[in-house]
Amino acid sequence: MERRSFIRQTGLAGVLAAGMAPAVVHAQANIRWRLASSFPRSLDTIFGGAEVFAKKVSDLSSGKFQISTHAGGELMPPFGVVDGVQGGTVEVAHTAPYYFFGKDETFAIACAIPFGLNSRQMTAWMYEGNGLKLMREFYAKYNIISFPGGNTGAQMGGWYRKEINSLEDIKGLKMRIGGFAGKVLERIGGVPQNIPGGEIYQALEKGTIDAAEWVGPYDDKKLGFNKVAQNYYYPGWWEGGPQLDIMINTKAYEALSHEYKTIIEVAASFAHVDMQAKYDARNPAALKELVAAKVKLLPFPKTVMDAAFKESMALYSELSAKNANWKKVYEDYSNFRRDQNLWFRFTESTFDRYMQSVQL
Ligand code: CA
Repeated sequence: MERRSFIRQTGLAGVLAAGMAPAVVHAQANIRWRLASSFPRSLDTIFGGAEVFAKKVSDLSSGKFQISTHAGGELMPPFGVVDGVQGGTVEVAHTAPYYFFGKDETFAIACAIPFGLNSRQMTAWMYEGNGLKLMREFYAKYNIISFPGGNTGAQMGGWYRKEINSLEDIKGLKMRIGGFAGKVLERIGGVPQNIPGGEIYQALEKGTIDAAEWVGPYDDKKLGFNKVAQNYYYPGWWEGGPQLDIMINTKAYEALSHEYKTIIEVAASFAHVDMQAKYDARNPAALKELVAAKVKLLPFPKTVMDAAFKESMALYSELSAKNANWKKVYEDYSNFRRDQNLWFRFTESTFDRYMQSVQL
């Protein structure tokens, strides 16, 4: 009997009962992609996000879709990854888009801008608001389609050799600060320094810089900053919820089957949730260890926060007047931020503050 008519007549159960394996169609090709990260391998949570993504893609495709992950500098410089994806040198990048604000400030909105959205709000804007749609529209100019690929949660405000007691202490302060935030630090009198992760410790130890921010307790402790600067400030007002992006070359993505495109989307979402979970789970223990090692945990003075807020808003207005891409994305982002803070004020914030005030 011809196989197809046999299946039609007997149904799948009949096929199995007859000991005949149903024809499983594996039309999917074997695919090999390369991913360039902007991060060193030693950062197991951030670089690890790329590995989590690649492993999930492999598992979901029964090993047919392989993505090799490469640390910053292996295939291209850490800040060369957008060019790498745009030009098709690699199919994928995993990065913090605010590094690329020099190309266009709009990149920063996909990651973190001072006094921006927190991690929960950012995910809501991306998946449910217009965030992903607007950023993809912008990224299309660079032959890129993006997927949220992790979030660190609110970061710490960094390590300072001397205490910061007023805005005066920011004047002339030489500080290593990530990405776009340097623009605001500059406006309140600081001197932003662009130093790669591996060189911060030495610069802080020598006094070449007065302060440095990196991520939060888990990552900062690994780099040992507490040995050379004891004042650890919070919060990182420039990174309330920085998001990482998985950027894919549009042509490579469009060549995928519907099934593989879905696998990419699902694996990216998994990596997105996984990174925040890791940071939230690991930061408390690291913070306890730092405090036990005599680190002074200090809040930024309100005057410093207020000045930074004012300058941030002024900067955003200036950018809206001269950069149409920024204006379009920021307008939607800032409306979303206003409503989110209205909502969180009654719910998350009130609940969290109460829980943090009682003995647990
Ligand atoms: Ca940072």
